[in-house]
Amino acid sequence: ISNNLENFQYTIWNEFTQLVLKHQAINLGQGFPNFSCPQFVKDALTDAVNNNENQYSRSAGFPMLVEEIAKIYGIKHNRKIDPMTEIAVCYGAGEALCNIAMALINPGDEVIIIDPSFDIYIPQICIPGGIPIRVSLEPPIDNISPWTINFDKLESAFTNKTKIFLFNTPNNPVGKVFTREELEKIAQILEKWPNVVIVADEVYEHIVFDGKEHISLADIGNLWERSVTLSSAGKLFSITGWKTGWAVGGPIIIKNMVVSKLWISFCSNTVCQGAIARCLRFAENEYEDFPNYYKWLCKQYEEKRERIKYILNNSNVIKVQPLLSEGGFFLVGRILDDGDFIPEKFKNETSLDFAFCRWLIEEHKVSAIPCSAFFGENNKHFGSNLIRFALCKELSEYDKAEKILIR
Ligand code: PMP
Ligand code: GLN
Repeated sequence: ISNNLENFQYTIWNEFTQLVLKHQAINLGQGFPNFSCPQFVKDALTDAVNNNENQYSRSAGFPMLVEEIAKIYGIKHNRKIDPMTEIAVCYGAGEALCNIAMALINPGDEVIIIDPSFDIYIPQICIPGGIPIRVSLEPPIDNISPWTINFDKLESAFTNKTKIFLFNTPNNPVGKVFTREELEKIAQILEKWPNVVIVADEVYEHIVFDGKEHISLADIGNLWERSVTLSSAGKLFSITGWKTGWAVGGPIIIKNMVVSKLWISFCSNTVCQGAIARCLRFAENEYEDFPNYYKWLCKQYEEKRERIKYILNNSNVIKVQPLLSEGGFFLVGRILDDGDFIPEKFKNETSLDFAFCRWLIEEHKVSAIPCSAFFGENNKHFGSNLIRFALCKELSEYDKAEKILIR
């Protein structure tokens, strides 16, 4: 294997997916919906196939989809978006991130990210020779407060080498939704570094709880031209396996991303793009007595968040305190035990969260994901007693978990 990939052969997804399969555990770990996508999504795919949307398409995105995105995100961002120059459709937000890294990073460039952060960011930064600079959120002191950001620490991370500020709200894994006030403070710092490109990973944009509002960093101040904002149809329509996402933002960054895309995949999957264009249109309509599909979706996840909270608060099998989740696919719990009861074989020189999750799968057939995996070396201690539960599973999975964890 190349030197580039040598240090990136392990992923938590491989370890924990295999453990789940081996022990036939309830999978509240990896973040993919295990329920059927809505009927309108299936119908949209059938329509796209029948309409022969089956061949290679434009590299930056199938015209029908980019036009729909321009319309909908134009309203969202309250600006005119050019479908041909301000949008790039990719194989998921994951490939969008990869194209951004390939297109922008030279060896030695620094990328500031806020921990905890999705694990895919790090190899994508490192492979072209970039250096991740990880600033951690500070954990909440109780179970009703959000994670907070230390703006002085964030500000001191910027240097002349900073190329990209990579930012995620709603956050995977902790479910923090950044407030307007926080975004304005971040924007003030960014105003001092006008050459830094802003990448806002907003794949969970529509999943926000308790009537909170998702706000895009790119909409604050004058950041638009040097920002790209990512979303993912996988999360919006419960079709993570379609791997279709998009970046919307400044035309120079989009153009450069597409240069990378030309040589990686040339274009994204046309039939999925056609189907998703129809879905985006459909989703704006009233759905199941909700004003639109996304409001319905949010309600589903909010209910599941309540289920997990209930299970953790009432469990007499594990001592895990549910922390506040304001949005996204996940809720994080804090392990209140010291883990002395966990047999050595689960520890394998890793932190408590890893040992706890391996033990929980084998001993109780319930899976969660250890959160230290989402922190850089300097910040690992913030995650070493935290485990992440997915909100995106069928209700029956929570019923089963409840039977196991409340005796
Ligand atoms: N960013 C975050 C924060 C995610 O949780 C995910 C989900 N895997 C992605 C990006 C990648 O999304 P996609 O499946 O569209 O590539
Ligand atoms: N984003 C999802 C998660 O965090 C899926 C991760 C993956 O499959 N790579 O669980």
